[in-house]
Amino acid sequence: MVLMQISEPGAEAEQTAARRYAVGIDLGTTNSLVAHFDGEVVQVLMDEDGRASLPSVVYYGDGKSEVGGKAEAFAVAEPHNTVASAKRMLGRARAEFNDDPYVALTQHGLAFETDAGQKTPVEVAAQLLIELRSRAQAHSDEHMVGAVITVPAYFDDAQRQATRQAAELAGVKVLRLLNEPTAAAVAYGLDEAAEEASLLAVYDLGGGTFDISILRMSRGLFEVLATGGDSALGGDDFDKAIVDLWLERLHLSDPTPGQRRRLLECARQAKEMLSTDEQATIDCSALAMSSSELTLSRSELEQVITPFVGRTLSACRDTLKDAGVESLDRVVLVGGSTRTPLVRHAVAECFGCDPLCTLDPDQVVAMGAAKQADVLVGNRAADEALLLDVIPLSLGLETYGGLVERIIDRNSTIPVALAQEFTTARDGQTGLVVHVVQGERERVEDCRSLAQFELTGIPPMVAGAARIEVTFRVDADGILEVAAVEQETGASSEVVVKPAFGLDESQITDMLKASYEHASEDMLARKLGEARLEGESLVVGLHAAIAKDGDLLNPDQRSELEGGMLTLQSALTDTDPEQIRALTEALGRASEAFAARRMNRSIQIALQGVLITDLGAEDA
Ligand code: ADP
Ligand code: MG
Repeated sequence: MVLMQISEPGAEAEQTAARRYAVGIDLGTTNSLVAHFDGEVVQVLMDEDGRASLPSVVYYGDGKSEVGGKAEAFAVAEPHNTVASAKRMLGRARAEFNDDPYVALTQHGLAFETDAGQKTPVEVAAQLLIELRSRAQAHSDEHMVGAVITVPAYFDDAQRQATRQAAELAGVKVLRLLNEPTAAAVAYGLDEAAEEASLLAVYDLGGGTFDISILRMSRGLFEVLATGGDSALGGDDFDKAIVDLWLERLHLSDPTPGQRRRLLECARQAKEMLSTDEQATIDCSALAMSSSELTLSRSELEQVITPFVGRTLSACRDTLKDAGVESLDRVVLVGGSTRTPLVRHAVAECFGCDPLCTLDPDQVVAMGAAKQADVLVGNRAADEALLLDVIPLSLGLETYGGLVERIIDRNSTIPVALAQEFTTARDGQTGLVVHVVQGERERVEDCRSLAQFELTGIPPMVAGAARIEVTFRVDADGILEVAAVEQETGASSEVVVKPAFGLDESQITDMLKASYEHASEDMLARKLGEARLEGESLVVGLHAAIAKDGDLLNPDQRSELEGGMLTLQSALTDTDPEQIRALTEALGRASEAFAARRMNRSIQIALQGVLITDLGAEDA
């Protein structure tokens, strides 16, 4: 196959001015929230009783079901019908939950056994989303076009896919799944911060989980460097430790399940009071115990929770090490449990800087998601900050001779769509195999194979006459779609690669290292060919881009780019790959801002047109 040209398919659609109604949803393990950004302020939407947090609990009784606080009320009397923390099981395998008496393996995977039948974690999550959707709808006359739903940064493809399925079941269009720590950073406007690049940690201590994420942020672009934490550590552990302390004091060694449950509620109440008060007194006369009051002081609380806080700090240190980071510019606090003063102090001391906590820590994720939703539905001007993620490893195709032709480069911002034209290698060839690979190496056998599909029905022609356009599209969630179309006959074939990038940080690092170590094995000719190709395609691409979007450049910027193109073009006939590369890179850098403005424009256009109705459905 011979590479012929590179082009970027532009989405053309009409621009509309009306503001679209979209929301951000924090689908939490303990609590879920929905928020909306109206262009000026973010508002967390309340239920009719004025509560912002929806407990992530669903009750499935005989003939009726309840969601949130109303569902929680059944926890003592009907524990098997009251499903909490279903998020832990989203997209997971049965084996990991062998000790849960209410969980069964069904035909469709994992499920909860309730009086209303078997309920999968996806159904439970959908129930919560339905509640939040109707709350969102009650707050506006406008039709809700979609939502940004947050997920933990460590969620793998199966877990993300399960979240999407839940949204689909609930009739919520997913504009994008956004990492929770990224959402928190967005809520604080860190994506719009002026500085060149910064490192931040997001410390998220919720009800039953602790997550620590290290992010690198530069010009509105977030990269998750490392994640860590403990999936069984959170505010619930604080509550249990308080109950143990009280039981000891009351000389009550064997409480009934009902008593234990009520004591846990009292403990939670006392703990939350102690975030502002020094002393908490809880009335427990309803419990018929030896005492009618339970007391707890701030220092008693701190004593029992110190070991848990210590565990979060050692997870932080491990994760910093994983990220290869020594110091940070900022720490963001997320999760209701970070209101505990001891937690705040410990985090400040551990990271050596005052954590950001001016926004409500249990609402900050939903708030960031709401801001992002507003951007994604095109309510903001094209030149304003747009949050983008990057592709961890290059994506390409196998070409003649087992070589890899890269289509989308590593670190490209997503969403992105790029196309290249290929042709047949043999006379009369009527089909070809499209082999999609991921990695930085030159040879297919050294890269990771993602998918393989066939394009048939090419009319027999002489070698080199067929024109086959192969398009790679990576959507905002990182899901890759590859399509091949023979231009003459329209014969087409495509594949969706999912999971798209199911690699963890260390696998990516290994693949990158391998590619650096073997780089010297590559022949100079290959280097030269590639350098020329890259230089050529940059020049061709820039020519086309300036022709189309030249209005985004001022005269100075334009002449700088045109000068760079001329210099590069004349260097292309030389035989020095380094020189060509250097010039290509310089030109690439010089055109970065232009490319970013163009991408903003094209995303804006794509999102404002008819495509909006397809959002989320295209890759579900
Ligand atoms: P998740 O993200 O896991 O859904 P949240 O961020 O909503 O959880 O955190 C819930 C936890 O926060 C609970 O353990 C709750 O008791 C705790 N919490 C809420 N408010 C306070 C407070 N004022 N002081 C201490 N802990 C609190
Ligand atoms: Mg949370």
